[in-house]
Amino acid sequence: MESDYDLIIIGGGCAGLSLAMRLAELGDQCPRVAIIERRENYVHDRTWSYWATESAQLTHLAKSDWKKVLVGAADQRVVVDCDKTPYQSIHSDAFYQSALRKIYKNKRIDLFLGESVGVMHKKNNLWLVNIQNRFVSAPQIIDTRPPKRTSDDAPILWQSFSGVEVKCGQGVFDDKIATLMDFTAGTSDEIRFLYLLPYSPTCALIEATVFGKHAMSQSELAAMLDGLIKKSVGSVAYEITYREHFVIPMGLGDYVPGSDPSYVTVGLESGGARASTGYVFQRIQRWAEGAVSEIKNGKPVSGHSRDSWVVRKMDSIFLRVLERYPERGPEIFIRLFSMRDTGSVIRFMNDEPTLSDILRIMSALPSGIFIKELMRGFFR
Ligand SMILES: Cc1cc2nc3c(=O)[nH]c(=O)nc-3n(C[C@H](O)[C@H](O)[C@H](O)COP(=O)(O)OP(=O)(O)OC[C@H]3O[C@@H](n4cnc5c(N)ncnc54)[C@H](O)[C@@H]3O)c2cc1C
Repeated sequence: MESDYDLIIIGGGCAGLSLAMRLAELGDQCPRVAIIERRENYVHDRTWSYWATESAQLTHLAKSDWKKVLVGAADQRVVVDCDKTPYQSIHSDAFYQSALRKIYKNKRIDLFLGESVGVMHKKNNLWLVNIQNRFVSAPQIIDTRPPKRTSDDAPILWQSFSGVEVKCGQGVFDDKIATLMDFTAGTSDEIRFLYLLPYSPTCALIEATVFGKHAMSQSELAAMLDGLIKKSVGSVAYEITYREHFVIPMGLGDYVPGSDPSYVTVGLESGGARASTGYVFQRIQRWAEGAVSEIKNGKPVSGHSRDSWVVRKMDSIFLRVLERYPERGPEIFIRLFSMRDTGSVIRFMNDEPTLSDILRIMSALPSGIFIKELMRGFFR
């Protein structure tokens, strides 16, 4: 039986569009692709930040770029120079529009909007997916939807954040420095901080972020966010131009890919996110680039590659320490960013740590609690 497509991508979000836009660039060599996306249109709904290391992709889409970042608490402030690997931020609408322009130009790709995938099955080596009251078929599916979660696969910590973009009547922000973490007092079992990206002296994304054992809703974060807005803009008049809220699971159990290579799951919760930081945008870009090479070589697309054992172990110890000793969180991050070679911490957070980065990081951390957690790790 002839298939309708060579590839069906379920979900046209970050992972789905990242792959499709690269395939679109292949012109006539592009496989026949269907992208099936639930939303009816694309609006700005998230902001992706990352360090622009050498391997970073799509950096031309960045709205802003900071060569200094701040990590601090009430009595301590560390300003890190990251001139060589600036911290950057991409507005999702810039990404969506850039991807869609490429995709719409290539007639070999069909994007079905407003279609929520429900029923699908495999018959004679072809996947059949029900859309618009008919079935479309392809030998391989890339599923980017968040997987169904059971209570057994709870993460070690949740990163909950709620933010607003504000436009102020007069300049209040230092747009040369992005605030990565400015810790505020929290309850005894969570780490709270301000994350602030100043796009200009009058515009910024101000975000209330909590690392905790429970996912927090927008309303649970509202009071904290209000306080942080007031603290950041003082008495200056402002208007809110955009809102975002999300919860990233950090330290899910080891992601185990399915056994059928014709059905591949990718994205944030399918091995896409770096466990200890939740950073995923650049990891998705690297996966998409690898997927295109696989297709060019006539191979089926595979999922995200697994982190090395050392990185997985380090991530889980790091998160367990934060979970067990949240009151030490500010100290731990301030120590990390005070390291002489901040390249190590940037590579660690950005997903490219070398063994020597990991050793350097371990030596910068409070050894007592990390050794205790390391010992516990052997028995888990
Ligand atoms: C507000 C916000 C800020 C973030 N900030 C950062 C950041 O700074 N850095 C970073 O690295 N990461 C960040 N993330 C996390 C992560 O990068 C994003 O969540 C990213 O979009 C994940 O990509 P994805 O493809 O896995 O999921 P998505 O981009 O969410 O794509 C999944 C797609 O599947 C579609 N879908 C779902 N169900 C169906 C269905 N049944 N049928 C068809 N389609 C379906 C959805 O509509 C969606 O478009 C942020 C996330 C949010 C929400």
